[in-house]
Amino acid sequence: MATNLQIAARKVSSINPARGEVLREFECASECEVQAAVERARAAQPAWAAIDVRTRIAVLREFQRRLLEKKSEIAEAITREAGKPVAEALTTEVLVVLDAARFLIENAYHLLRDEPLPHGSLATKLKRGQLVREPYGVVVIISPWNYPFSIPTTETLAALVAGNAVVLKPSEFTSMVALELQSLLRSAGVLRDVFQVLVGDGATGAALIHSKIDKLVFTGSVATGKRIAVAAAERLLPVVLELGGKDPMLVLDDADVDVASSAAVWGAFMNAGQTCLSVERCYVHRSLYEKFLSACVEKTNKLRVGNEFDPDTDVGPMIHERQLQIVELHVEDAVARGARLLAGGMRIRELGNNFYKPTVLADVTHEMRIMGEETFGPVLPVMAFDSDEEALRFANDSEFGLAASVWTRDNARGERLARQIHAGTVMVNDVVSCFGISEAPHGGVKSSGVGRTHGRFGLEEMVRLKYLDVDLMPGMKRVWWYGYGAAFARQMEGFLDFQFARGLGTRVRGALRSAGIMARKKL
Ligand code: NAD
Repeated sequence: MATNLQIAARKVSSINPARGEVLREFECASECEVQAAVERARAAQPAWAAIDVRTRIAVLREFQRRLLEKKSEIAEAITREAGKPVAEALTTEVLVVLDAARFLIENAYHLLRDEPLPHGSLATKLKRGQLVREPYGVVVIISPWNYPFSIPTTETLAALVAGNAVVLKPSEFTSMVALELQSLLRSAGVLRDVFQVLVGDGATGAALIHSKIDKLVFTGSVATGKRIAVAAAERLLPVVLELGGKDPMLVLDDADVDVASSAAVWGAFMNAGQTCLSVERCYVHRSLYEKFLSACVEKTNKLRVGNEFDPDTDVGPMIHERQLQIVELHVEDAVARGARLLAGGMRIRELGNNFYKPTVLADVTHEMRIMGEETFGPVLPVMAFDSDEEALRFANDSEFGLAASVWTRDNARGERLARQIHAGTVMVNDVVSCFGISEAPHGGVKSSGVGRTHGRFGLEEMVRLKYLDVDLMPGMKRVWWYGYGAAFARQMEGFLDFQFARGLGTRVRGALRSAGIMARKKL
């Protein structure tokens, strides 16, 4: 029946976070468009997978060349839409992607190759085993706004080189950067339907999960991740979930205060604190506590907050009002419960709507929201500890487990502690940079997620593992087939002794008892 009720298409806007100016408006991909895109991807994928992997690697090489050529343009597009300083866009986004491409160019061929799987058991010696890696088919990537280029691109490159088609649903706040990625990939030789961007909001993402896809790689908040895990479980869709973090930094009594305080300040405030691997909790040995705090405050007060395109700017705006309100709430709660505010603690309204002053809080406790929930803003909360054991207890007292760092002049001591911290990554004497180490797996434990991206293990997430077994004696019936009887049972006992008994005598007797097992008459 015709109706004059018009169902308005949902829209999302790309907004410059510093000035609030609307850069572009998009209609969200509808459910029909989502399904059509997935069908196109499915139709295009077999031909892409059938190409020799070296040809796909050549496409990555071309992508890398073009990205290097357009590095400044891409960095500026990221800055315009996400608000981070251009220098940060170059280091934490463009550099990360160029190196992820380098890793895959150098390693994808041998990592994706069939792998012989020799058998140890005598019973299966006459078979040749192989591991075969097959692409899933259609891989969907749903990504956040905080690293709008490096997160979806590193995942996309791994999925593509493994022979998958990719449908990317970027964050509704950073659609334009995703479209830059699309044009780079197309110009490098990736066919239209092999990589598609579907602009939209959460509902577009949800429609994708309910469409006929083969794997989902999701990066975002724990709340959305849990919803996605439930939807994925209903249809047993394999998923990688890269979720939030509350990364602890442990500054031991022998740490270099100057170096560690610089790391804390950068680790807490880069990208205005909107980094999953940010230093979100800082624990300092009481003997260094006040000295460390003074160093952090001095360095924090020197940071230049401002226009993201000004080359002197250290910290730009936050992404939007909602994120800023969480920061305000956490800081207010901490101060109300007795934390000392040593720097910042307020908006900088004269710069624009979304600027928050880098903030240092001392004497925080685990009863405060700022030490339990992800803040995702420019705040460095610091707390003292008295022993390594206590620091460890504090570090592990969290629902999150993405990354952590230990600061000490004694690397062996740092490593000992690192092994006891519940996290996907622990760095000794560094923060955050693990994301840029293309060989290193990235991912968390506990509420921080499931599965890994980056490096060898990230590539493994993009393939189904098939075990291929070829029997080398096709004309022979297997020993364990029908035609059982008392004699066979005795022979089998002998065979088990022959293979697994500890004493030489028992093994020899077992060998004698099992003689004739091959010649046994089978059905
Ligand atoms: P978010 O969960 O709000 O959104 C992430 C993506 O999911 C967006 O594209 C969004 O449109 C989509 N989405 C929302 N609802 C959906 C639904 N029901 N079904 C399918 N898709 C849906 O997260 P955000 O605010 O964009 O990103 C910030 C969060 O991401 C932080 O918690 C941060 O720690 C986390 N993060 C984690 C990593 C990591 O590698 N572990 C990296 C970056 C960011």
